Amino acid sequence: MHKDETVHHYQFASDNYAGICPEALEAMAAANTGFACSYGDDPWTARACTLLRDFFETDCEVFFVFNGTAANSLALASLCNSYHSIVCHETSHVETDECGAVEFFSNGTKVLLVPGDNGKVDLDAVEHTVRRRTDIHYPKPKALSIAQATEVGTLYSVDELKEVGARAKHLSLKLHVDGARFANAVAALGVPPKELTWKAGVDVLCFGGTKNGMAVGEAVIFFNRELATEFDYRCKQAGQLASKMRFLAAPWIGMLESGAWLTRAAHANDCAARLEAGLRQVNGVRIMFPRQANSVFAEIPPPILAGLRDRGWHFYTFIGSGGARFMCSWETSESDVDALLTAVREVAATVGP
Ligand SMILES: *Cc1c(COP(=O)(O)O)cnc(C)c1O
Repeated sequence: MHKDETVHHYQFASDNYAGICPEALEAMAAANTGFACSYGDDPWTARACTLLRDFFETDCEVFFVFNGTAANSLALASLCNSYHSIVCHETSHVETDECGAVEFFSNGTKVLLVPGDNGKVDLDAVEHTVRRRTDIHYPKPKALSIAQATEVGTLYSVDELKEVGARAKHLSLKLHVDGARFANAVAALGVPPKELTWKAGVDVLCFGGTKNGMAVGEAVIFFNRELATEFDYRCKQAGQLASKMRFLAAPWIGMLESGAWLTRAAHANDCAARLEAGLRQVNGVRIMFPRQANSVFAEIPPPILAGLRDRGWHFYTFIGSGGARFMCSWETSESDVDALLTAVREVAATVGP
């Protein structure tokens, strides 16, 4: 196979393998009009904040940072003191994929893990973790962090979120949502963003722009405005205050004004649905979690996975034994999905049952 072809096609490893979608890129170019005030004191940043407030239908506090690790860890640090703890799912990005950034930026706040089916926290396990100790020797639980969509591509329904929010409140925990794929969640659930956030008791959301189609950038949205006190200093100290902020903000204008945040996310979800339907037809392949957003997790016999890799397909296999994750993005095409399915069928036929 031609090397460039491998790089250009055959990418199901992550939605961050995709390029920048036109709406985000054009908005960035449109902001390139000479001089503008720096550090967020510019009309694009103001406009993006206004659009995000309209989006959530509330007067939230908005900050822009470079990536999801910074968004999550700085948001969580703002909810806790160093002697507190954060409860989250054992597979959460915060725990497994952020290199201890939460603990670092919070000066040592401990992360406490809970299990739960399909990547969602078991609320009784959360309650047990909070209540099992009340003495001074245990790091005091102060925040609950969940992901929407979750690490395994599942979603909390509005009712499930309300239960999470109610339980968090009952346990005096602040509620953080890792929304690296929040747009995919909104597109899949088809409800107004407010239903998945402040109306369910979410205090702070990290709203992902990168995986939605931007080059870079996530928005940290505080629905509980008091928690945002001095968050700007936290961003600056962490090296997350962009001096040419307009270029971090402008893509949000492009995505929100055009509706691309939704159409692009819905397209990625549709591609995953197409892939799931096709994989279900292949003998020996088992879908591992309900496919609700833009990823498909499948248990596939190792010889088939090896055969796909030999043909240049990229995907991750970090969940369970023999499990593969296929992630779709705004840039995935239906023909990419069909080509992958053809390859799976061909490889499966050669390796036999
Ligand atoms: C991608 C991702 C992030 C952000 O990761 P960065 O590489 O730091 O931008 C956060 N949470 C989840 C669930 C993700 O998939």
